[in-house]
Amino acid sequence: MTTPPESSASCLLCGAPSTLRCSTCASKAGIDLFFCSKEHQKLVWPVHRLVCGERAHPFRLPPFSQEEADVLLERLAKPPTTSKQAELQARFLNLVENGQLPGSDIQSKVKHLVGQECAIACMHGAAGTSHTECLIRAIRKFSASWYLDLRPQPPVPSTPSMPQVEGFIKAYDHFTMENAHPIATDSIWFSMFCHRLSSHVPIVNRMDDAMAANGRLTPAHDWLFELQEQSFGSLLSFLDASLVGAETPDRARFCLVACVRVQEAYRDVTAS
Ligand SMILES: [Zn+2]
Ligand SMILES: [Zn+2]
Repeated sequence: MTTPPESSASCLLCGAPSTLRCSTCASKAGIDLFFCSKEHQKLVWPVHRLVCGERAHPFRLPPFSQEEADVLLERLAKPPTTSKQAELQARFLNLVENGQLPGSDIQSKVKHLVGQECAIACMHGAAGTSHTECLIRAIRKFSASWYLDLRPQPPVPSTPSMPQVEGFIKAYDHFTMENAHPIATDSIWFSMFCHRLSSHVPIVNRMDDAMAANGRLTPAHDWLFELQEQSFGSLLSFLDASLVGAETPDRARFCLVACVRVQEAYRDVTAS
């Protein structure tokens, strides 16, 4: 039993002290996840609903869905419209064809992915992570790039927003430098880290959507901007506290990398 860092009793999103926890996560997974208000719980809900309850600890991303399979098949079938899409299409095809999946054609191979689990971090074949889990993670990671490619600069309305899971994977790879210092993923601490990181995703998505709708952020979006800063700050203090209390060199290295990356991201946001 270790004492959780003090910041664990603070809102997942903004870091404000809180005693309101998600009751489903507490009862089904034994993890205490706090929100300062119904408002912040609601803002995080688009991503939290995917990992609330049994998936909250150990933290597990939702399994590959039929909808994702349909999107993937469509991307494989359609002639690419940009060079980036052509590159990603080749990557998708390579993953599916060489992914040791049962079935003789692309359709049946992709069908086999539906309902399968997704690795949180690519462990490069580490024990406990199956090949298919890493395959699904790679598909989602390339899918994030696909969505980014659909967003022109300046953005235009009606471009699709990045799905929450893809957003999470992108954020995870960014903040951990593609898992440069792998860490055991079954601790309460790691689940807490993932929930904090995930709560950031819907805010970034809303900012992207606001940009797409208006071409820029307007004063009406100041609250979103502030919230994004608060959420960076809250993630940073969680990592800071974990760094001080880290029992393992693995966790210390992991936190250190993430701290540096959060600070960089924070600087980018406040400078723009
Ligand atoms: Zn809050
Ligand atoms: Zn929950």
